[in-house]
Amino acid sequence: MTFKNISLRIKLTFITTIIMIVISVVLTVVSVFNANVGFSRIMARTDNLTYDSSYGSEDMAEDKVINDGNGEIGVKNPYDWGSSLISPFNNRGDVGKIPTEGVTETVKAVDMFKATAIVYMVIIIIIGSIFIYLILGKILKPVKELSSQVGIINENKLSQRVSGVNSGDEIGELAHSFNTMLDRLDKAFESQKRFSSDAAHELKTPLTALKTNLDILSIDEEPSDDDYKRTVAIFRKQTERMISLVNNLFILSAQKEYEFNDIVNLDIMIEEIIGDLEGEIKDKNISISLSKNNISIQGNYTMITHALGNIIQNAIKYNNEYGNVFISTEEDNGRCIIRVRDNGIGISEDKVEHIFDAFYRVDQSRSRKIAGAGLGLAITKDIVNRHGGEIRYFPNEEGGSIFEITLPLIN
Ligand code: ADP
Repeated sequence: MTFKNISLRIKLTFITTIIMIVISVVLTVVSVFNANVGFSRIMARTDNLTYDSSYGSEDMAEDKVINDGNGEIGVKNPYDWGSSLISPFNNRGDVGKIPTEGVTETVKAVDMFKATAIVYMVIIIIIGSIFIYLILGKILKPVKELSSQVGIINENKLSQRVSGVNSGDEIGELAHSFNTMLDRLDKAFESQKRFSSDAAHELKTPLTALKTNLDILSIDEEPSDDDYKRTVAIFRKQTERMISLVNNLFILSAQKEYEFNDIVNLDIMIEEIIGDLEGEIKDKNISISLSKNNISIQGNYTMITHALGNIIQNAIKYNNEYGNVFISTEEDNGRCIIRVRDNGIGISEDKVEHIFDAFYRVDQSRSRKIAGAGLGLAITKDIVNRHGGEIRYFPNEEGGSIFEITLPLIN
């Protein structure tokens, strides 16, 4: 077991105990050292000192004049050994008059002081460590609680939240952040699930159409050429629908990475897109115009074509017969703005917030007549975001829709 694997409580107790030991030892050593220095000073001074011979007779407790042979150097009570500058030992013969018990007492007191200091130090360390261990247990209880609650949350329990950790400290903050992260994960998982089931549903529709038409053909004992032709036509249409759906799903999948190195002239690109949509434009007698500005951006040519193509195609698809589509590009504050304005059926206010969600179609019954799976705007938004831009919807005051794409210009 390494230090890393030890519980936080033990680790912190260990570290604080080490700090406590170091501080206590330093303090004890300093105080014992000071006691020794004080005692040595007393011993050293006595070598040069004489004392008043009247000392020790009538008034033992009185202060006495001490001199060093040259004159007075101080007045001391010789019994006051704790603070005295003198010692009873000296170079002269009156040693016997100085109370030698006082010296012994001092030595004993110093030894006693050392022993007591060490014993107290050990006691303080032991009690301190136990105290720290208990306090840490209380402080770290919410962490334990948090970790046990987090431990039981898995992909099937993403709606569960961490509760009971309401402290305003870092642990409370951690629990709050964890719950916020769970909210996001829960939403992401839900939308992934919805996406998969919508994708399955969208694929199921053409597959069911294929199977139904095959069944009809196989029931017929002698199918005519027309029956075959009709079935082949249905097969072609449904297969194309599936291919387009799978392609779109592929583009939307987060795994698909692409380069952003192409320099794209927007006027040229938009003209190409309009050219590709010529058939649909003519079918509906749409009048389409582009106000050119010769702006170039950097990105992935195919993906930007796909994104702009979706928006322009929608402006035609969801337009009325003889409707208008205006496309403009302009520079604004180091960014490029592409606007696609139509005077078609528009989108009601309450539906706008969902139009960029995958598989969302505003009016299911009306949209059914118009080809699409509700992936176009989701794909466009994804592409625009990956290029560092954004897409927004505005209602056209004259009726219809305005889609505005903002992209960074080339640096
Ligand atoms: P779809 O494949 O259905 O066209 P999109 O993601 O491109 O999917 O669009 C989502 C929905 O938004 C469409 O079904 C349509 O109802 C609505 N929509 C998109 N563009 C327009 C537009 N220009 N005018 C009116 N409605 C639009």
